[in-house]
Amino acid sequence: MNKNSSNIMALAPNTPNKRATVCIFGTGDFGRALGHKMIQSGYPVVFGSRSTQTSSLIPKEAEVLSHAEAAQKAAIIIIAIQRQHYDFLTPLAEILHGKVLVDVSNNLKTNQYPESNAEYLAQLVPGAKVVKAFNTVSAWALQSGTLDASRQVFVCGDDTEAKQMVMDIVRALGLTPLDQGSLLAAQEIENYPLQLFPMWKFPIFLSLGLTAFFFFYCLIRDIIYPFVYEKKDFSFFIAISIPNRICPIVALILLALVYLPGVLAAIIQLYRGTKYSRFPDWLDKWMLCRKQLGLVALAFAFLHVLYTLVMPIRYYVRWRIQSRILSQALQNKTDPFDNTNGWLSDSYLALGILGFFLFFLLGITSLPSVSNSVNWREFRFVQSKLGYLTLILCTAHTLVYGGKRFLSPSSYRWYLPNAYMLSLIVPCIVLVVKFVLIFPCLDKPLTRIRQGWERNPQYSE
Ligand code: NAP
Repeated sequence: MNKNSSNIMALAPNTPNKRATVCIFGTGDFGRALGHKMIQSGYPVVFGSRSTQTSSLIPKEAEVLSHAEAAQKAAIIIIAIQRQHYDFLTPLAEILHGKVLVDVSNNLKTNQYPESNAEYLAQLVPGAKVVKAFNTVSAWALQSGTLDASRQVFVCGDDTEAKQMVMDIVRALGLTPLDQGSLLAAQEIENYPLQLFPMWKFPIFLSLGLTAFFFFYCLIRDIIYPFVYEKKDFSFFIAISIPNRICPIVALILLALVYLPGVLAAIIQLYRGTKYSRFPDWLDKWMLCRKQLGLVALAFAFLHVLYTLVMPIRYYVRWRIQSRILSQALQNKTDPFDNTNGWLSDSYLALGILGFFLFFLLGITSLPSVSNSVNWREFRFVQSKLGYLTLILCTAHTLVYGGKRFLSPSSYRWYLPNAYMLSLIVPCIVLVVKFVLIFPCLDKPLTRIRQGWERNPQYSE
């Protein structure tokens, strides 16, 4: 119902002459950019400024008046001024009574002040209806037509009518308003522009840590060991061979780490016998960044595909094939075709191709435009069922790659197993525990717990 009505509003023709005047306090970068955009959208704009002298930077269609004069001309006043200068508004409290004040301000640090700037504004001008909006849109984005930046405008405020008026303006400017509720949400909205990929930090640091660890591990096993024992220089492995070992390892571990928290959560719920009890903070945070973990894993898998594709054109690979053929010719013998090796090699490649295809599908369904077009059950089916299938295929791809080498003593250099063997630990744990959880004696109580049944109400909060 709401959705439809908002669409109707967005589509309703708004003729420019019907638009109410909007007042903007402050003729700085943001005030001017917003003013330009509003004039383009058919709003008469009046600026409230300390200096009533107009400049070439201010849109010529707009009037520039004193704050008091400008405020009297509009019901909506946008405060495009830094918070630290808000005290000039106190003497204007009477004129601003009943007006809608739009707080667009941002801070330099998260939670810089005890209260949000919008709440501070509401305290300074108690008779006004304060709405927080536009702070996540930059002056540059407004000037550049907002085509190459986010169009989302988070809006919050205690007065529903005032909020609706601001959201109508947002829509008229070609932006998308997102109602975030009461003015209490302002602090969070003010923190948004200061965050730097908050959900990506853990996946990126983890993948960098794993990459560094496996790089040194492979360096020791594949370059230093042959150099010490066989006096062979394989340092060129650093360019392609080692990255092509690290990428699938990191991809597989990260993919398993996407599913590990779900398995841990199931164990906790089974143990506590209720779902109404908070998970530990670290598990909550881990669950929240599963999508990002999966996307980083996909990036590593993609790199693995690219590195694998260049294998046939590598000098080292061509040299090895040629020398092998030559040595066979010189010894006048050929290797007989080994059917088992044929099966192992083809299965390994087929599992890799299918695993990567499903991995890619998972990545696509996590895109907001795709996930918005499927219902919750379809989304869960793809992310959970197909996700586990992807993990099974990728784990099997690695297991078949290992093949007979798992037990071969030559695979252990300085007692260190091949790096891909280490990559199998987490996926195998996840798959085994998941397999155990499927047994009806565990699955049934877990399903009941997830439907709200409680075995141990003392755990619920
Ligand atoms: P700005 O270029 O420094 O402009 C601020 C304006 O505030 C000045 O031009 C001035 O306008 C007015 N002002 C300065 N000192 C004042 C005082 N003591 N008393 C009354 N008015 C005073 O800053 P801005 O970039 O436009 O940013 C304005 C607000 O928008 C800030 O709160 C900022 O956080 C927010 N914002 C900015 C952007 C952006 O991309 N720039 C994006 C989102 C939100 P007059 O000379 O006309 O009085």
